[in-house]
Amino acid sequence: MLAALYSALQHPGRRQLRTAPRLASLLAPVLASLLMSLSAVVRASAQDDAPAPLDRITQIEEIIRVTPQRAIPLLDKLDAETRAGSPVERAHYLILACDLRHRLGDHVESAALCDQALQLARQARDNDAIAKAMLSKAYALFSLNEMTQSHELIWAAERASTDSRDAGLRVRALISSGEAFGEDGNLPMALVKTQAAVTLARQTGQPLHVLVALKALAYQYYLIREYDKGFEAIGEAEAIAVAMKWPGRLAILKTTEYFLAVGAGTLQRGTRVLLETLALEREIGADELIANTLVNLSDAYLQQRKYAEALSYAQQALGQALHLHNDAVAATARINVGHGYLGMGRLAEGKKTIEEGIAWYDRAANKPDLQSVLVEYGDALERVGDLPGALAAYHRERKLSDELFEKRRQKAVTELQEKYEADKRQRQIQLLRQENQVKSTELDNRRLQQRIWWLLALVFALASVIVGILYRKVRHANARLEEKNLELKQQSARDPLTALYNRRHFQEFMRNHDGVERRHAGSADDMVGAMFLLDVDHFKHINDTYGHGAGDAVLREIADALRDILRETDMIVRWGGEEFLAFLPAVPRGNLDEVARRLLSGIPARTIDYQGVPLSVNVSIGFAPFPLAPGGAPISWERAVNIVDMALYLAKGHGRNRAYGVRGLAQLDGAALDLVEQDIEQAWRAGLVELSIVQGNPAELRAAS
Ligand code: GH3
Ligand code: MG
Ligand code: MG
Repeated sequence: MLAALYSALQHPGRRQLRTAPRLASLLAPVLASLLMSLSAVVRASAQDDAPAPLDRITQIEEIIRVTPQRAIPLLDKLDAETRAGSPVERAHYLILACDLRHRLGDHVESAALCDQALQLARQARDNDAIAKAMLSKAYALFSLNEMTQSHELIWAAERASTDSRDAGLRVRALISSGEAFGEDGNLPMALVKTQAAVTLARQTGQPLHVLVALKALAYQYYLIREYDKGFEAIGEAEAIAVAMKWPGRLAILKTTEYFLAVGAGTLQRGTRVLLETLALEREIGADELIANTLVNLSDAYLQQRKYAEALSYAQQALGQALHLHNDAVAATARINVGHGYLGMGRLAEGKKTIEEGIAWYDRAANKPDLQSVLVEYGDALERVGDLPGALAAYHRERKLSDELFEKRRQKAVTELQEKYEADKRQRQIQLLRQENQVKSTELDNRRLQQRIWWLLALVFALASVIVGILYRKVRHANARLEEKNLELKQQSARDPLTALYNRRHFQEFMRNHDGVERRHAGSADDMVGAMFLLDVDHFKHINDTYGHGAGDAVLREIADALRDILRETDMIVRWGGEEFLAFLPAVPRGNLDEVARRLLSGIPARTIDYQGVPLSVNVSIGFAPFPLAPGGAPISWERAVNIVDMALYLAKGHGRNRAYGVRGLAQLDGAALDLVEQDIEQAWRAGLVELSIVQGNPAELRAAS
């Protein structure tokens, strides 16, 4: 009996979803009348300020709510349409499909469809779609008895819809939030949320929103037993339904009013309301609503112990339910028929009919409702004196209660375990995160160290390259310096005009080759060293006649000639202005005259062309073997040069273009040597020194002329 009361009372928001199989069929005619009045609104909207018509989705929502079977082809069409549509369109389709499955009693499939919708809505970041998907999923979870998850989802949906421009969605979220708080035992908060829903609905100016919110508020007042306020709210809602000409909605509101009346203990008023409702429903031909109202009427009479009326209405309800193939309403009607029989003392018929009703509850696995049915059944049997029957009913109820308790206990244990596991996992994750942090810091440090090493290596490499470059530069500079030094040394040893050795170099050479004066002294072989001193004849005349440049050219030519005539091993020195000294380290003793002759003829044979004038010169020569006194006391090279110079002087004096050679200075003492040095001619005449004389070619005396 009470089962009917629960089902009809739990009407607002998703309350009616929980009992979908019964209420969906109840509401079918409501939609028909609702849509009829809506189309009238659409037609009228051009002229007056009538509320806006429902859009297509809202229409389908209403059809799903009232006649789910009829929504199937509509959704199939929408499925095909949205396959190629945007994610948001697809999400909206999936939400409707979720609602439909839920209404048809397939709550698991319903939750899965809403999950898909939620995923798409999140991808599209569409908060409205997210909130709608969450609400619909929450209704499915509610039916699956997943209360905690259902509540969490509703509150999440409420947050997601806070800023929504869809006021209907916000009203619905607030109503559902209130219901969730109510189920959670937080009745004050439930009231706050529902009142907020009413306020918001009033702000939207949409009568349907206000009506739905007021109905939810009436239900909240019912829960906290504030019946007067409940009547006030439901009264206002009913006035809207009347004004809007929504008889279907009015019938539903009146059902809520009936339960408020029952709660307030005014069964008479409740019965009167139900009779009004029945009349209203018959007027609009709302068959399913009629079936439910008939059940409720039988219930009201049972409570008043008016069994004949109760039986009559219950039988009418059963007939109507069977006609509509509504098993749920039929089961409730059967139980009420049974109670009618019991009340009238028809025990066997009563028990049989009630057992038929209970069988449906058993099949539907609706344990909480079955529990209430069994309590009522036991009470009734006890009242009519069937104590064994009453005991049996109580035992069944106890067994069911134990089962339910065990189930709840197991669920609580599982939830606790899950929470413990989740906490444990959270701690492990935290630990892992810390470990990771330490590792990543270590890694960073190592990377930093590596970077520093690389940097050092780079600096070192750069430094090496720079040092290398500098080293090469220094080496290069050193080499250049060495070259320069050599050049300088050569320059200091050479005469710049003729490139012959200069006098200083010769002096150095003689100093470094100390003993050269004695090298051949006493040697028996015929090889001797020799010194030749040459002076150009009448050179001043060249300078005076052709200029200094011509003189320089002649001097260079003489140097070339000397290099040609003498050997490479001979040392040729520019001795002074137009004087040359040749030191021959090794010549056969008998060949000195021959060398002199070659010089005397070789030099004038060289002619230079000076501005078309052929120029050539003769030379006069003084020469001597060196060392000068083999067997005697060694004579220094300086003295030897002096003596050769004396011989040259004599050659000049005797007519030029000739060579005078000192043959030997054997057994000469110091005084005799002094004389040779000072006046060689006198010493020669005195027989102190032997000279050899080589004549130049007379034909080559041209410079002298
Ligand atoms: P002699 O036959 O008596 O030797 O007559 P000389 O004219 O050769 O003798 P003297 O010693 O009077 O003249 C030498 C001249 O040589 C004087 C000087 O101007 C010239 N002379 C010396 N050095 C150079 C030089 O490097 N270049 C040129 N063009 N002339 C030089
Ligand atoms: Mg001279
Ligand atoms: Mg001269």
